[in-house]
Amino acid sequence: MKYEKLADLYNSLGSTTKRLEKTKILSDFLKELKNEDREVLYLLLGRVFPEYDQREIGISNQLAIKAISRSTGIGENEIVKEWKSKGDLGKVAEALVKAKKQSTLNRHELDTKKVLENLRKLPELEGRGTMDKKISLITELLSSASPEEALYVIRTVIGDLRIGIQESTIRDAMASAFFGDEAESASHIQGALDKTNDVGKVFEMVKKGKLKEIKEISLEVGKPIKVMLAQKVKTVAEGFEKVGRPCAIEYKYDGFRLLIHKKNNEVVLYTRRLENVTRQFPEVVKYVKEYIKGSSFIIDSEVVGFDRKTKIYRPFQEISQRIKRKYDIEKLQDELPVEINAFDILYYDGKTLLHEPFRERTVLLKKIVEDRKYKIKTAEQIITDDEKKAEKFFNQALADNQEGVMMKNLDSIYQPGSRVGFMLKIKPEEREMDLVIIGAEYGTGKRSGWMSSFVLACKKGSEFLEIGKVGTGIKEKLGSDTKGTSFAELTKMLKPLVEHEKGRDVEVKPEIVITVTYQEIQKSPHYKSGFALRFPRLKSLRPDRSPSDIESLSQVEKDYEKQGK
Ligand code: ATP
Repeated sequence: MKYEKLADLYNSLGSTTKRLEKTKILSDFLKELKNEDREVLYLLLGRVFPEYDQREIGISNQLAIKAISRSTGIGENEIVKEWKSKGDLGKVAEALVKAKKQSTLNRHELDTKKVLENLRKLPELEGRGTMDKKISLITELLSSASPEEALYVIRTVIGDLRIGIQESTIRDAMASAFFGDEAESASHIQGALDKTNDVGKVFEMVKKGKLKEIKEISLEVGKPIKVMLAQKVKTVAEGFEKVGRPCAIEYKYDGFRLLIHKKNNEVVLYTRRLENVTRQFPEVVKYVKEYIKGSSFIIDSEVVGFDRKTKIYRPFQEISQRIKRKYDIEKLQDELPVEINAFDILYYDGKTLLHEPFRERTVLLKKIVEDRKYKIKTAEQIITDDEKKAEKFFNQALADNQEGVMMKNLDSIYQPGSRVGFMLKIKPEEREMDLVIIGAEYGTGKRSGWMSSFVLACKKGSEFLEIGKVGTGIKEKLGSDTKGTSFAELTKMLKPLVEHEKGRDVEVKPEIVITVTYQEIQKSPHYKSGFALRFPRLKSLRPDRSPSDIESLSQVEKDYEKQGK
């Protein structure tokens, strides 16, 4: 397909903010879309691979600027200047390519296959000397692109397409294009998307028009799917209201999510972000093979770290490096041992279990997992209708160094990717502290152009000492109610206060005071104050407070002591 056609579609989609209109435009497009061109659906989602494949284009603004510069012959400084005034690197590319095209006429036509081919090479290039190759791949596309195509090539590579299309829009458009507007077909298509995590594959099936096939599609071991998420409640009483009595209550482990796939004696491990981390956890592969019965399965679990000597569970931050680190794995395995807590099963020996009730899934799980504490086991669980027992279990989880508990509806299905109320989380009350912002880091991808992580400090006399960073509790965009604080707003406030800039990091004059919530104060060698906050979250800006009103180090010390008791 010509890339021009896709650019036209992007334009139409971008020209309306109304969801129904977007769906209609997309539905008309899908009716015409040939099966062989189905991979453009990945491009519509700002990707080049199916969603189960975690590889991302991952090009920084800087690199995109170099590519624009190389293909148009305009200096990088000039481009940065334009970018600052236009606020959209895609528009800059459009204008510059337009100016250049007036003088040259040697354009080859760009098609979507070529765009996908070049962009797919980008994530493969890692390490030294690859920057140039990356630039060449983008430059090649830009030199064949019309101004409008250049706009979308650049927006695609930097991950900022601005057409407002999500998987759910594609789902509704597919339903409307091939089955009329029935809600039922949309829900079956959603089921197929959940199970395959691949819009291209689902399009192929939908185009054939066989709803029965779509309904019966099975999970595939080895292909990660999105995990089910939890809603939050404040008390166990509220929890029972939502999930019914009795329900299952489990420890909410303070670790990270791990999806365990096994097929033909091969085990593959995925994180919640669908990253394959099998290599990083060889001992887990061994535990799975040794202590879980079954020839093929997909199991949902939480990995939690513990201290080898004291056998006390450790907070997530202390083991987080195991996820990324690709060398010295044996050493790390020894220093930062982990325990797997399995809590759900989605597929077992040929059968997809997403629609089996949780009560049956959890029974099966207990049957096939041989509990080995400090290696692999099923999550601590009680099934009860009694509030007192639930409270006691919650306190036990906290005493065991975990975050709180999960409450789970026994009759519920497993709904991938959704924050439906089938499982709830309860954590202890949060505390609050006023702090001042002393630095920030500029974001990348969708957040490029904004400061997206903020360095916080408490005070000691007239000094400001770092006590952590906050990046949550801040909105990408303010909703129509304009409640909350957005990255754009904070960036605007902080820009005039910048004192030093180094790469993406800036230091700012300590003026902006914010209230953050947190769960616990921890000792930290990282930060100058000697402390760090666990789960800090921006609650609100405090324009009514000045930096001299913020939390003092001695107060932090006192709070730390108090919480120990
Ligand atoms: P949080 O920051 O509170 O973990 P989140 O947005 O990361 O929230 P949620 O879905 O809201 O994720 O909370 C559930 C998370 O808790 C799961 O993603 C999982 O990683 C973790 N977890 C720990 N123990 C369990 C358990 N027994 N059952 C389900 N999830 C668990």
